[in-house]
Amino acid sequence: MPRKPASTETDVLIAGGGMAGLSLALALAQGGLSSTVVDALAPETVTDAGFDGRVSALAYAVCRMYRALGVWPHMAHHAQPINDIVVTDGTVRGGASPLFLHFDHREIGEEPLGHLVENRHIRLALFAAARDVSAITLIAPGRVTGYSATPDGVTGTLADGRQVHARLLAVCEGRQSALRAMAGIRTIGWSYRQTGIVTTVAHEKPHHGVAQEFFLPSGPFAILPMTGNRASLVWTERTELADALLALDAEDFAAELRARFGDYLGAVEPVGPRWSYPLSLQIATDMIAERVALVGDAAHGIHPIAGQGLNLGLRDVAALAEVMAQARGLGLDPGAFDTLERYAQWRRFDTVSLAAVTDVLNRLFSNDIGPVRLVRDVGLWAAGQAAPLRRFFMRHAGGDVGDLPKLLRGDSLAA
Ligand SMILES: Cc1cc2nc3c(=O)[nH]c(=O)nc-3n(C[C@H](O)[C@H](O)[C@H](O)COP(=O)(O)OP(=O)(O)OC[C@H]3O[C@@H](n4cnc5c(N)ncnc54)[C@H](O)[C@@H]3O)c2cc1C
Repeated sequence: MPRKPASTETDVLIAGGGMAGLSLALALAQGGLSSTVVDALAPETVTDAGFDGRVSALAYAVCRMYRALGVWPHMAHHAQPINDIVVTDGTVRGGASPLFLHFDHREIGEEPLGHLVENRHIRLALFAAARDVSAITLIAPGRVTGYSATPDGVTGTLADGRQVHARLLAVCEGRQSALRAMAGIRTIGWSYRQTGIVTTVAHEKPHHGVAQEFFLPSGPFAILPMTGNRASLVWTERTELADALLALDAEDFAAELRARFGDYLGAVEPVGPRWSYPLSLQIATDMIAERVALVGDAAHGIHPIAGQGLNLGLRDVAALAEVMAQARGLGLDPGAFDTLERYAQWRRFDTVSLAAVTDVLNRLFSNDIGPVRLVRDVGLWAAGQAAPLRRFFMRHAGGDVGDLPKLLRGDSLAA
């Protein structure tokens, strides 16, 4: 007789244990909800130095959330504070325009504008924090291959035949989400026909925590300060050109890099491998279905021009955990449709507005049309002259605007 597959009970089945999925598990646990996190890849794979070369600019509200969840102590010594952001327009041959925009964190308080942390260290910190929480079960490697929802609950099926019964399926699968399609949720979006080249450089002089966004005609060239005299580059190019740059030998690649980086930090040397990421916009037409909630890149993938994709996903995490913890506290079903509707409503404006802003910024700056260049340079300069506008932009970059969930204010979800 065939053996019946093992089955488990949990409050939330989380499909995808990336940065969004693991953060959600920790937030739910603080709100009194158990979860089973299933990820296709083993923790050793996703924390290997060769897996993901990116660093993430974590907005200061997200840093508060990671403090409230006990994750921060596991990554604090790898976190580089962002004290200032300098935004400049220019060309590779002509250099930077004299009109630039400067954001100084001291204008809005003592807290830095955010911290830069290597994705690898964020993942290591999340695994370390989750390890101590009995309400979290991690199955990795494993894969959620399907689910069935009823008005009372949801059952997820894993690739090995196991079944997990839950109140909610949280889909944190990233952009290529199969469960999103199974839930009947479509996406809209387009390719930017740009590629983000990511690499690390060592430089001679200290960066003093200043992040630089240099807008070049092919796309933004971001210089993100890391701990020590190091910086991570997110170098956006049209895809055809990016392919050619990635194929260069070490010496020629370094020469192209230096032509864009300049010499303001003295001698610059590439020190890490090169990674590349195709860039596109992808927004789900809905964030919920019966017993299903989309979280993170499964719900929205945006251009990295403002370093906000993960921050947006972590704002989903904070909102979903809060509405579910509240429902549980009131003795209601935390996966019921009205709870999920509160989540979707809470997240709609932030998602659509950030997707639109990053899209418009990329179109406005990724070209070399003279009159457009003039307008944007004057715009940059004018924005820099108005202190209230500067403070407004900094609060947005810090994720500190609108109706903030408790965790993003630094408050605990524990009753
Ligand atoms: C070049 C670049 C730079 C960026 N810089 C920044 C930045 O500075 N700041 C910022 O906020 N954001 C940044 N982002 C965006 C950020 O990297 C993403 O938003 C973030 O990684 C998304 O995390 P996620 O957990 O939602 O998805 P993912 O990281 O895609 O994780 C999805 C996980 O789900 C697993 N999975 C998928 N399907 C299944 C399944 N069926 N069963 C089990 N597991 C499954 C996968 O193995 C994976 O681990 C950048 C993006 C790019 C491309």
